[in-house]
Amino acid sequence: MGSDKFSLKGKSAVLFDMDGVLYDSMPHHAKAWSKTFSDFGMHMDLTQVYMNEGCTGSYTISRVSLAQRGYDATPEEVERIYAHKAELFRSMPEVEIMPGALDLMHRVRDCGMKILIVTGSGQKALIDRVLRDFDEFMVRERMVTSFDVSRGKPFPDPYLKGLEIAGVDASQAVVVENAPLGIQAGVAAGIDTIAVNTGPLPDSVLLEEKPCALFHSIRELADCWDSLL
Ligand code: CA
Repeated sequence: MGSDKFSLKGKSAVLFDMDGVLYDSMPHHAKAWSKTFSDFGMHMDLTQVYMNEGCTGSYTISRVSLAQRGYDATPEEVERIYAHKAELFRSMPEVEIMPGALDLMHRVRDCGMKILIVTGSGQKALIDRVLRDFDEFMVRERMVTSFDVSRGKPFPDPYLKGLEIAGVDASQAVVVENAPLGIQAGVAAGIDTIAVNTGPLPDSVLLEEKPCALFHSIRELADCWDSLL
């Protein structure tokens, strides 16, 4: 699909998702979720991990519990399960910055657009790392995390909060997302959403959520950025 017809004209802010967009962290999350659910007597395969990507840990745990056990997890159990997953994630090797992500940030900044990060993550270590790795472009006040909204993706709330912080209308912003539920959240907030398929799902699954363009890597999006202006 690429960028046919899509233009960044009139856009003044870019709202970046984090996992699978700025960091190549999804393989780690997939392993950690899969092990966690099996440790708690449930299961989650790779496709399910990527289909659930973007929403908060508690939302994922509720969905899996209801589907597999027929009842929701209690708040205490959600906390235990999520803490276990977070611990496994922390014990893994450090995730890499997504190839092309820093170059993309430079291009966005050079064309005068505001940069925000809107993530469903509540991984403090990774959030702190963003502020170091992208320190040229980012301060904590321009990040929306699972600590900042009560309803995460696929609800539009995190992206609406991002618009409020950026001080722009939906029509002046663009979202960069890699996950179906993340694209759903961006579109639900009324924002043109660029899909970047950095994972194992087929393009068709992302296209169903009606992104305005689809790329296959952050590198590809960075290389095309100036031609979209
Ligand atoms: Ca993501």
